[in-house]
Amino acid sequence: MNLLLHSCCAPCTVACAESLRAEGAGFRLFWYNPNIHPYTEYRNRRDTLVRFAAGENLDLDLADEYGLRLFLRGVTESGCAMETSVTAESASPGAETEKDAAPRRRCLFCYRLRLEKTAARAAELGCGAFSTTLLISPYQDHEAVRETGEETARRYAIPFFYRDFRPLFRDGQAKAGERGLYMQKYCGCVFSEEERYLQKSKARRSAAGAPPFRKTAGTPPPRSIAVPESRPGAAVPGSPPAAAGNKPVTVNPLFQRLSLLTGAEVLEKLAAARVMIFGLGGVGSWCAEALVRSGVGKIDIVDSDAVCVTNVNRQVQATGRTVGLSKAAALKERLLEINPDCEVTARDTVFSRENAAGFNIEGAAYVIDAIDSLTHKLDLIETARAAGVTLFSSMGMAQKMDPTRLKTADIWETQGCPLARLVRQGLRKRGFTGGFTVVYSAEQVPLHREIEVSCGSGRCLCPGKGVEWCGGRKVINGSAVTVTAGAGMILASLVLRDAAEKARAEA
Ligand code: SF4
Repeated sequence: MNLLLHSCCAPCTVACAESLRAEGAGFRLFWYNPNIHPYTEYRNRRDTLVRFAAGENLDLDLADEYGLRLFLRGVTESGCAMETSVTAESASPGAETEKDAAPRRRCLFCYRLRLEKTAARAAELGCGAFSTTLLISPYQDHEAVRETGEETARRYAIPFFYRDFRPLFRDGQAKAGERGLYMQKYCGCVFSEEERYLQKSKARRSAAGAPPFRKTAGTPPPRSIAVPESRPGAAVPGSPPAAAGNKPVTVNPLFQRLSLLTGAEVLEKLAAARVMIFGLGGVGSWCAEALVRSGVGKIDIVDSDAVCVTNVNRQVQATGRTVGLSKAAALKERLLEINPDCEVTARDTVFSRENAAGFNIEGAAYVIDAIDSLTHKLDLIETARAAGVTLFSSMGMAQKMDPTRLKTADIWETQGCPLARLVRQGLRKRGFTGGFTVVYSAEQVPLHREIEVSCGSGRCLCPGKGVEWCGGRKVINGSAVTVTAGAGMILASLVLRDAAEKARAEA
């Protein structure tokens, strides 16, 4: 069979492609999804499919048309745009009104738009049939997809290949998570994005006994939030006056100033979160400091080095007093001075693929990668993403002076950072296709080679490491705390903003 398989996204394609391959069916993928908005979301899903197809040696035909206007015009002209506005009231369970027919009409338009294009392209390419990965999703109106496919087949005189892929859905999603593929939080259109926030889908699904909408690979399963006992504190200054019968909100005074920006729910989320930070140098140490000062309740800090006098310029735990101490132990002491109630686990070791099982990464809400060593960095990225944990990673921060040039991006979109290039190459070699956010900078300041450095010279100052340790380092790079701490703060900020978004979505 020469099948053109419309792909709605990479995660849904995994099991469909595997099943067709197992049957020996010849097929190529087709991307046409003008229903996905906004553009950054569209690009994420498209690029994930491109990487997945390349990794699987699958042919992929891209109709790369971002269709916000086309889609909105279509739903407006077909009369379902206005009706699809969901209000908080209509989102309550049991609020089944005439409005509830609207999403189905909108979705019918959406199925037709995509399947007609697929059928036309299949005819152009001389394919024997067409189909769609929408047939795997229990969240789509399966019968409507089938009927739309069959009706389109009649009009375009090309067979629609129907298969109920739904029994493969869970397995396919799990495999997509293991591969670290980007997994969306909503169906695609702006309306479904709205519904995600207004919980309409959740209410409907729970009323129908169906599972809640799937989460991203990086989103831990919903957990009950353990609210730490508040220290004695006044009502949050500046809060709106408490409604009659409602108690004023009190928060730990350590975090009151942050709560004025985030609200108490975000602090509750952070207090319940476990964050793991790997690499406690100029980036990771500042990230830990910022997270503990922001109310993270449990933090694991991992590094095998001892504090060296040459670390003092950039690492928060490195002072005259701590030289020679374990970096993890010295940092733990400092973090507990900031918040004695924080559960800090210090590990004086390196992370590697071999000892990964001992870290319980799957129990973390966030993993921060601030590791220098490329191999261990790649091991951590693979492990964290396979565990479905949200990962934020630092690229190279040496040879840079200007913190205003720091940026965040998906790893595959980074440019000009030598370490990011090596990470991309290493991940590609390992067959890793998933995305994750990194902080990086393209700045490259040349070394002042006339400066004599003790490291690597046989007069190593690193306590307890000896000449062999330093002697193995060919180039000692320059570093500035303004840049490394800036990167650490950005990583901490990614955690705070992600927690805030999740708290909003769950509210
Ligand atoms: S909810 Fe999904 S299927 Fe329905 S219109 Fe939006 S993107 Fe299309």
